Amino acid sequence: MESFPTPYPTNIKSAPPWFIQTPIINTLLSQFPKHDTNKHIIKQNFRQILDQFDHPEGIYSDSSKTHLGVGAAVVTDYVALTFKLPETATILTVKLFAILQALQYAKSSASDTVSIISDSLSVLQLLQRIYIKHPIGILIKQQFFELQSLKKKIILLWVPSHVGIVENESADFHAREAIDNPNQGITMCSPHTDLKIYFKSILLRKWNIEWQSTPFKLREWKPKVGPWNYGTLKRREQVIITRLRLGHNKVIHEYLISLADQPQCYICEVALTIHHIIVQCPVFQLEREMCKISTESQETLSYFSASKILNYLSALNLSNKI
Ligand SMILES: [Zn+2]
Repeated sequence: MESFPTPYPTNIKSAPPWFIQTPIINTLLSQFPKHDTNKHIIKQNFRQILDQFDHPEGIYSDSSKTHLGVGAAVVTDYVALTFKLPETATILTVKLFAILQALQYAKSSASDTVSIISDSLSVLQLLQRIYIKHPIGILIKQQFFELQSLKKKIILLWVPSHVGIVENESADFHAREAIDNPNQGITMCSPHTDLKIYFKSILLRKWNIEWQSTPFKLREWKPKVGPWNYGTLKRREQVIITRLRLGHNKVIHEYLISLADQPQCYICEVALTIHHIIVQCPVFQLEREMCKISTESQETLSYFSASKILNYLSALNLSNKI
């Protein structure tokens, strides 16, 4: 990103909640589990639901976020509006943005019933809340108010994704296509919550680059910085795994306190290290195979391998010496 992203101002307001009627959210299609229902049945029921409305113009909104960028689209029988959002936008932001654009488009529609069709159930449910903190959510509430002032009835209709509803597929296609089209790029403010996530990811990326050139022993076991989950390990087990990961433990470092010589592997005639004990030394090959210890360092001390490594230490009678 070339320039510093602009955060949303903190004074965004909508009409008071007691003036805004919560729109009808139709989730009737959720009774048809996507993987157990013939797509034609879902499509048929979708058309039946649409027919119940009073000649509405269906406005389909969809969004996409990939490692290449963020896109949103609003599709009707007549138009396809596409937007490439800043890379700071989270999935929630882009989904809300697509619905906001659909509502803004609905203002110009001649139809008295506005039906916004989206495959994002969680976002539609979020919009049912009386108070929303997300700035685009607040702007959506304001659109509800303005459309209701224009005597338009708003219906939010949920459809499952990828069941062959042509307009929904088209919105999905246009949202993905917008990502590759720099001409669709728009300038918009970013919610502060998005910026927090964005800057964290930049810092993590930079930290990782720096980490690659550090001489620390820990890098051998932890090639990437980030949280190291201990899952359900007991306290003592966590201590053992941490000491192995850090490379600081009694087996290897006791000589520093007792002022003895550095311990050596008497077979291999090399300095004794955790790496040597766990993945290198041929003396322990049988125990290694029995405990299914991976010879890839980073995998060996991961959470998934923790129980194997604890069994391995126990087989070598080293558990109490770490
Ligand atoms: Zn050895």
